[in-house]
Parts: sequence; C-alpha cells; structure tokens
Amino acid sequence: MVIQTDSEEALLGKSLSELTEWVQQQGQPAYRGKQLHQWLYQKGARSLTEVSVFPKRWRETLADQPLGRSTLHYRSIAPDSTRKYLLRLSDGLIVETVGMPTDKRLTVCVSSQVGCPMACDFCATGKGSFSRNLKAHEIVDQVLTVQEDFQQRVSNVVFMGMGEPLTNLDEVVAAVKSLNQDVGIGQRSLTVSTVGLPGRIRQLAQHGLQITFAVSLHASNQPLREQLIPSARHYPLDTLLEECREYLQLTGRRVSFEYILLAGVNDLPEHAAELAEHLRGFQTHVNLIPYNPIQEVDYQRPSQQRTQAFQSVLEQEHIAVSVRYSRGLEADAACGQLRSNN
Ligand code: SAH
Repeated sequence: MVIQTDSEEALLGKSLSELTEWVQQQGQPAYRGKQLHQWLYQKGARSLTEVSVFPKRWRETLADQPLGRSTLHYRSIAPDSTRKYLLRLSDGLIVETVGMPTDKRLTVCVSSQVGCPMACDFCATGKGSFSRNLKAHEIVDQVLTVQEDFQQRVSNVVFMGMGEPLTNLDEVVAAVKSLNQDVGIGQRSLTVSTVGLPGRIRQLAQHGLQITFAVSLHASNQPLREQLIPSARHYPLDTLLEECREYLQLTGRRVSFEYILLAGVNDLPEHAAELAEHLRGFQTHVNLIPYNPIQEVDYQRPSQQRTQAFQSVLEQEHIAVSVRYSRGLEADAACGQLRSNN
C-alpha cells in the first residue's frame, strides 16, 4: 500500500481558480485549469494520467501527483437499497459513508472525522476511539465516491456520519463550499448537524452560509442532556438555544432540532411539553429519531404509539415536527450505528 502523507498536496477540494493557478505553476496555459476541474469533479479522475485532454508528455510526469481520492475497502447494501461504504484514506485510516437513494434523490451521509471525540452515550461512533479530523477534500471524496457508485448525481449531503462537524469547522466549511461550487450541489441541500459546542454555532453563522442546519438536542432539560451527552456539561441548554436564535438572526435560516427517542428516558409526554416550552416562539422544525440499537448500551426504541404521542404534544404547540425512521438499519448504516469496521 502506498502511504501518501502530504494530503495538503491533494488537488481535490481546490476551486477552479486554485486549479488554474496550479496548472500555470506547471507551465501550462490557464484553460487547462478548467479541464482539470471538470475531470476531477465531473469525470471522477483518480489519476492525472487518465486526463486524456492533457498532452501525453505532461500527463506522464504527473503520474504521482496525489488527487486526494480514497479507495473502497468495503461496501454493503441493505434491503432498502442504502449502501454503506468503508473508505480507506491516504494514511490507511478507514472512514464510513452512506448513500441513500429515494425516488428522485440521492442523499449522501458523510463523515467529518475518523471516529468522534464527543462520546454521546447512545452512539456507536462515540463508543470507539477518535483518530483525526478529515480534510475538506476527504469529505468531498466521499460524495464523489457515492455518486460514481450509483452512477447518479448526488442531490443532498448530510454531515451526519462519523464525527462532530463543529470541532472541525474550517475543513467542514471548505468542504461545504467545494460541494456547492465545484460539485454543484445547492447550499440548501447540504445539511450540517452538530451536538453543539460553546461559541461554535455563532462561528458557523458568521460564514453566512445558506445551508440547512440541525442541532442534536436529544433532551428537554439540562440534567437529562448531560446524562446522555457528556460534552453538554460545558454548555447549558439555555446558552445553546440562545446561540441557535443568533444563528437564525445572522443567517436568516431556521434551525432544526434532532431529538433521539429513548424509551422511558426522554420520550414521555412531559418531556415533549418541556421541549415545547423551550422552543416557544422559535422558528424551527423538530426531527424525532427513534433510537437505533447499538451493542454497547441497552436503551430501547419506543413503540410507534409512544412516538406518535410525543409528536402530537409538539404539534399541539404548533411546532413543526417529523419522525425520521432511519434507513440502512440492517446494514448497521443508520444514524448512530457507524463505526470503523464492518
Ligand atoms: N455529531 C453530529 C453529527 C452526527 S449526526 C451530531 O451530533 O449532530 C447523527 C445523528 O444521529 C445525531 O443526531 C445523533 O445524535 C443521532 N444518533 C446517534 N446515535 C444514534 C442512535 N443510536 N440512534 C438514533 N440516532 C442516533
């Protein structure tokens, strides 16, 4: 296996103007930047030797130029057609990506880190170790890989794979920009999900992106949230919600809240009422996620009846709410089930 350590050199993730600059540094005319851009982002080139519009002599000198593409380590397909990929990065680490086709859409769930440092109690990723942040091009690569495998354009990307996007803010923002400008996915079709870290939601808002933004709330009061999410100890619920309000003001985009439903823990009608109280007057949308089982803990998924009861309480309070029945459950590819093995 070739270990490529200098990932700074990867061409993937670079914008049209950066690629143009790069070809010019190589003594080539500017228009080759546009060709390179097209081959990287549209044609899925994995080596510059494939770029047949480039002069053969020049191409041959570029055989070792890293592009920043991963290699497929493992793929599984669930009965609902969800595909889970384990991708090998240039340093040998493995990252997980999920492709979810629906009628006309193809949604990719990307990882932003190898592992996750947040250690949420209900999440398989948090039970494993944290290795490192992903570079922007390693995030873009996941989307291109799924697009190539399905031979269908990716319509949506959700940053809901392994990792906490806001602990890797700069690379995540760079990846969002590249997915938007280079791959051609609309910003509103890109969703960043976070468990929330003090000050980071504001920092993201300052980038003024028009992405869809979701916060993993998961609890209706601070003690319960701390029990489920260790990092919440440093981030009072009120402060988190205040930053979310600021996010809306700065970007004009509403914030969605994800709320995992754990039977008997946070799924009672009184929890729903308490949640509604916090969200009163807040332009928002709540996404309920019935718990997907993981080995390490014995939480239970609530019955459909309980889920609906929770939903009704929110609806009565005029809060927009939907239930996300996760896809890919059979392939261990659903929310919270991602880990770096198969
Ligand atoms: N770190 C980010 C990105 C992960 S997104 C975040 O916390 O938002 C994945 C979503 O699935 C999050 O809302 C996460 O809390 C949720 N999740 C984690 N484990 C789960 C499980 N076992 N069942 C259902 N949802 C889970």
